Amino acid sequence: MEKHLPVAVIGAGPVGLAAAAHLLERGLEPVIFEAGASAGAALEQWRHIRLFSPWRFNIDAAAVRLLEPTGWTSPRPTALPYGGELVDNYLTPLAELPAIASRLHTGARVTAVTRAGLDKTHVRNRDAAPFVVRVEDVAGEVSDVAVSAVIDASGTWSTRNPLGTSGLAAIGEERAGARISSPLPDVTGQDRDAFAGQRVLVVGAGHSAANTLINLAQLAKEEPGTRILWAIRGASAEKVYGGGDADGLPARGQLGSRLRRLVDSGTIQLHTGFGIASLADSERGLTVISGDGRTLVTDVVVPCTGFRPDLGMLRELRLNLDPAVEAPTELGPLIDPEFHSCGTVPPHGAKVLAHPEKDFYIVGMKSYGRAPTFLLATGYEQVRSVAAALAGDQLAADAVHLELPETGVCSSDAGTSCEVPAAASAPEAEPNGCCPAPEPVLLGIPTGLAHGRSGVQLAPPSS
Ligand SMILES: Cc1cc2nc3c(=O)[nH]c(=O)nc-3n(C[C@H](O)[C@H](O)[C@H](O)COP(=O)(O)OP(=O)(O)OC[C@H]3O[C@@H](n4cnc5c(N)ncnc54)[C@H](O)[C@@H]3O)c2cc1C
Repeated sequence: MEKHLPVAVIGAGPVGLAAAAHLLERGLEPVIFEAGASAGAALEQWRHIRLFSPWRFNIDAAAVRLLEPTGWTSPRPTALPYGGELVDNYLTPLAELPAIASRLHTGARVTAVTRAGLDKTHVRNRDAAPFVVRVEDVAGEVSDVAVSAVIDASGTWSTRNPLGTSGLAAIGEERAGARISSPLPDVTGQDRDAFAGQRVLVVGAGHSAANTLINLAQLAKEEPGTRILWAIRGASAEKVYGGGDADGLPARGQLGSRLRRLVDSGTIQLHTGFGIASLADSERGLTVISGDGRTLVTDVVVPCTGFRPDLGMLRELRLNLDPAVEAPTELGPLIDPEFHSCGTVPPHGAKVLAHPEKDFYIVGMKSYGRAPTFLLATGYEQVRSVAAALAGDQLAADAVHLELPETGVCSSDAGTSCEVPAAASAPEAEPNGCCPAPEPVLLGIPTGLAHGRSGVQLAPPSS
């Protein structure tokens, strides 16, 4: 690797900034490209959601070593922050440190990565050639930046899964874009006006859906006329409710039983086996049509359908990705949501994350591809190991370790990451904004499904 060139870090989310901190510790020079206006731009979109993992698992050790000399103190390790608190109390101070700020380019979207002078088919001197990162700024100016290595920490937030059941957009989905919200709208807060008094259809059977449905029920209490529809592909919502034999941990029951009560009382109208085939917009509203011909008429759709990585910008690189999960090949089987729960993912680093393209790594949320079970603590260990590998310290790169609570288990739903709302995992906040230590500390959502998604009954495909 061309040591005189910087190492590109794509994305200034928690994992991208941690990568920069580790690179600095290793004496390597990071250059960070962030598409958003500031660090933590994706987290900004769900700042109203409380994380299910406490502070001590959400901050990176190298980042803390940069922060502490400036007088920064860690929030209470056992408290569960909101997304917004993670930004305000950790990411923003980190991004503002001169060591980071001087290397951080915001409003800088990476659109492609390649090897200088070599397209994907060329092999000669490939490993020694610098990378070229193509960056577009907010004014549309495009530049190519030469770097020695690339760490892609760009997350998956901006590429949600489509509403269509087969992995493709439902027919009419793009045209109906104005009636489709972001994946986790703040329905009782800043997005309230778009939902108050409306017919709202929530699509998906993950914890994002549960979160949004419960918040919508609160809104409906205050804003009469708000109607809540919920469409899932499965034959039943038992997985989302949890409880009984299907529940791994009792705390989850709180959320599930609240949701079940709202469905039983008719506040939420549940439609099972509803695989979306098409959408048709008209003056009457948006008609959502299932594969078996049922229709739901709505004003706004909330797509809680999960996320997938943007691989388009990596097209000129030689990648090795799991055919199902789109995570690095060795990692894929460890996190496949068909079979897996995230509490048991072994610690992993540069070796597992490596691609045939030397000195290129996908880390963080994006490294899990389509699997919804990524945890920050895992990402921080990934970037520690990757920075060590890039610095040539193979011993440190290979010595991966991760301390997760033994009770850590995770959702295998395709909804979103393994986020769980406060109600499910966190005791109520104390008046000072903190919350008591959760017992046991959860690092995920217990699905109670030992075999991941393969244990869930799907409605038969419609003809
Ligand atoms: C609602 C929710 C709750 C979660 N709760 C938890 C939790 O409690 N505990 C836990 O451990 N994990 C949790 N996660 C999972 C995961 O830890 C978070 O998604 C986390 O934000 C992932 O960090 P990241 O740095 O990998 O990606 P992101 O935070 O998504 O950051 C990626 C950054 O890259 C930028 N970017 C994207 N594309 C480009 C590009 N082409 N060029 C330049 N920049 C780009 C984005 O703007 C963004 O700032 C949760 C996820 C969600 C969605």
